[in-house]
Amino acid sequence: MAVTVNFNSASIEVQRLFCIGRNYAAHAAELGNDKPAEPVVFMKPPTAIVPTGHDVHLPRYRGPVHQEAELVLLIGRNGANDERDIAGVTLGLDLTLREEQNRLKAAGLPWELAKAFDDSAPLGAFVPAPAHFDGLVFECRVNDQLRQQGNTDNMLFSVAQLIGFLAARFSLRRGDLVFTGTPEGVGPLVPGDDVELTSAFTSRCTWHCR
Ligand code: ZN
Repeated sequence: MAVTVNFNSASIEVQRLFCIGRNYAAHAAELGNDKPAEPVVFMKPPTAIVPTGHDVHLPRYRGPVHQEAELVLLIGRNGANDERDIAGVTLGLDLTLREEQNRLKAAGLPWELAKAFDDSAPLGAFVPAPAHFDGLVFECRVNDQLRQQGNTDNMLFSVAQLIGFLAARFSLRRGDLVFTGTPEGVGPLVPGDDVELTSAFTSRCTWHCR
């Protein structure tokens, strides 16, 4: 069955989840990575989405699952190649099995096992995109403790650059999503945790971990 998101009272079928790695210098540094010369891109399946307000089932016995709070873009039209083609925005989590990712990275293997598991893409509700993407601030709290504070001004590749990079390599479609990378402060989640994402430009998003 198709995965859909609601936007402007329409139901949009989700196509692909493009995710950007290492897009904030301080986060790249906290994981011991260099600043990338071009965007690091990976994908998750639409079936990984968990809407805000629902329970997230964390993988068990596979090492720590880190939260990565991110601005998420909703592509509004087929053939999108410009930031004006972004219809909606929200916040989401790029959940990551960190030790598994480190093992895969060290072996030069793809990241899907660490990034694309069930429930790995908790996703907020989309609201219309702002007029521009400068200075958008968002926060992540786990059990009411502040863990991450992002500002799009600190992105290594801007929203416009990310759309241009992706559009040169994929035919972007209405219903594609782009997770734009996480700022510093990633850390482990355990069953029982409550995760909250907030900003001035979206509605509050919450998930309970099980
Ligand atoms: Zn991420």
